[in-house]
Amino acid sequence: MQYGKLVEFYEELGKTTKRLEKTHIISELLKQTPAEDLPVIMLLLEGRLFPSYDAREIGVASRIILKAISAASGIEAGRIEKEWKKTGDLGLVAENLIKAKKQATLHSQELTVKKVFLNLRKLAELEGSGTVERKIQLISELLTSAKPKEAKYIVRTILQVLRVGVGSGSVRDAIVWAFFSGEINLRYNKEENSMEIGNREEYKRHIDAVQKAFDATNDFALVAEAAKTKGLSGLNSIGLLVGIPIKVMLALKVDTAEEGFERVGKPAELEFKYDGFRIQAHKKNNEIKLFTRRLENVTNQFPDVAEYIKKHVKGKEFIIDSEAVGYSNKTGRYLPFQSISQRIKRKYDIEKMSKEFPVELNVFDIIYHDGKNYLNEPFESRRKLLEGIVSQEKKKIVLAKSLIASNAKEVKKFYEEAIKLGNEGLMLKALNAPYKPGARVGYMVKYKPAKETFDLAIIAAEWGEGKRAKWLSSYTIACTDNGNFLEIGKASTGLKEKDEEGLSFNQMTKLLKPLTLSEKGKEVAVKPSIVIEVGYEEIQKSPTYSSGFALRFPRVIKLRDDKGPEDATTLAMIKDCYNKQKK
Ligand code: AMP
Repeated sequence: MQYGKLVEFYEELGKTTKRLEKTHIISELLKQTPAEDLPVIMLLLEGRLFPSYDAREIGVASRIILKAISAASGIEAGRIEKEWKKTGDLGLVAENLIKAKKQATLHSQELTVKKVFLNLRKLAELEGSGTVERKIQLISELLTSAKPKEAKYIVRTILQVLRVGVGSGSVRDAIVWAFFSGEINLRYNKEENSMEIGNREEYKRHIDAVQKAFDATNDFALVAEAAKTKGLSGLNSIGLLVGIPIKVMLALKVDTAEEGFERVGKPAELEFKYDGFRIQAHKKNNEIKLFTRRLENVTNQFPDVAEYIKKHVKGKEFIIDSEAVGYSNKTGRYLPFQSISQRIKRKYDIEKMSKEFPVELNVFDIIYHDGKNYLNEPFESRRKLLEGIVSQEKKKIVLAKSLIASNAKEVKKFYEEAIKLGNEGLMLKALNAPYKPGARVGYMVKYKPAKETFDLAIIAAEWGEGKRAKWLSSYTIACTDNGNFLEIGKASTGLKEKDEEGLSFNQMTKLLKPLTLSEKGKEVAVKPSIVIEVGYEEIQKSPTYSSGFALRFPRVIKLRDDKGPEDATTLAMIKDCYNKQKK
């Protein structure tokens, strides 16, 4: 297929915002695409060179494209840059400049979809010295052969901004329109932009089949090919492919244990809700691949996790679902997600990062194991299977901590245990439920009661010990009551040891020291001036603090430098929250 033909469809798509019309245009494109070009078209249609789960990237900066346009058009880079500033779209710049040049030389060569695709893919594979020059050369070669409009879309594809507005919902529907229009008896009226479906039931059946195949593979190329060559039975037989990520099952939120049981039934499995990030791990041919919740490939960033899985999970081929949680090298305690999030995008010093920011893998589900698809097996059996195949080792790989429960009291107790260990809350899971990829169905719910946070004034602080001796590291926090400051607890959790990690002890010390009123031993009384936002798990009555209340597990969320001490939360408000919480 000629690239110019695809470009005509891009142009058509860019002209409309109507979903039905877009679907119709895409379906026409799919009908006209020869089978051998279908996989490439499915990617280029969404402006991709690789499916979403493929870790390869084009890696071409605007500057490089600018130089390539310059090489192809013979116009110096400075002028191109000016044009670029005017429109903000290098694609348009390429179109206009190539147009001017073409009029002068009348030279152009037919570009096929395949040629463009393969050349662009080469960009992602280049490595080592001379890479930049080679990239400029590859792009300018394409641009030299391209017609003006083709140049526009080549540049936009490289920059990953196609600007034609193709959503995955339209692609899904278009596959049905293109390959099953007879079965569903579909008629589209272009003038009125309306659609008539003769057989609604069949339509739904086909849409569901395409969606299911896509949820399992995340690859429209595979799905469209199956639909075109093997029909509905082809779609239905697209199973899981180990090595290609499947959409993860999502959770609903509940505020109370009762609501949770209503959703998932009784008894239910409770699990700790870890504050890490999701990892879907695949093993095939003794190779591990790791994907995030958004199905990005993060295998290279987590060699430690891959190693644990290789060593500790039995089976030749499998797909497991889990949460990777950071923990402190020093205290062993779980750390919040932010403290390890930098590992996800990291490209270098991987070894060092895995030592500095170690993670523990908490496995909670399994989707496929040695030839058997477990999507439709009840959760209870999936968990049993996991118990049989994972040999647990703390701080490396363990099963999510779980408990079968059927009343609110058990939930509360387990929840407290979870929170104490630094987790976010609990998950409640239906014992008999299948694994539903990509869906926020009520088969698992998260239970992390939302709490209001308080803005509290710091009225005293304490010098730390050992490594923290140089910092004021624990803060007495207070609410206000008619101009008085009343203590409600001491907080230090949430602060960082390094400035670059967020609000740090060092920063707080610098803010508080000048406010010193008096010092007694390690205790320093300070003038109420600094306000911090504090989260907590519960408000309790307290005989020790002057407010009469204490916050359980207080944690510093952030500095409220937009607030003065007079704006701190009032005692009345705290009483109110306490009473609400008792209900
Ligand atoms: P949320 O991100 O708030 O919608 O909560 C759902 C997320 O919690 C999942 O996507 C997982 O990343 C995470 N999670 C932590 N622990 C578990 C667990 N035991 N079971 C399922 N998901 C968990």
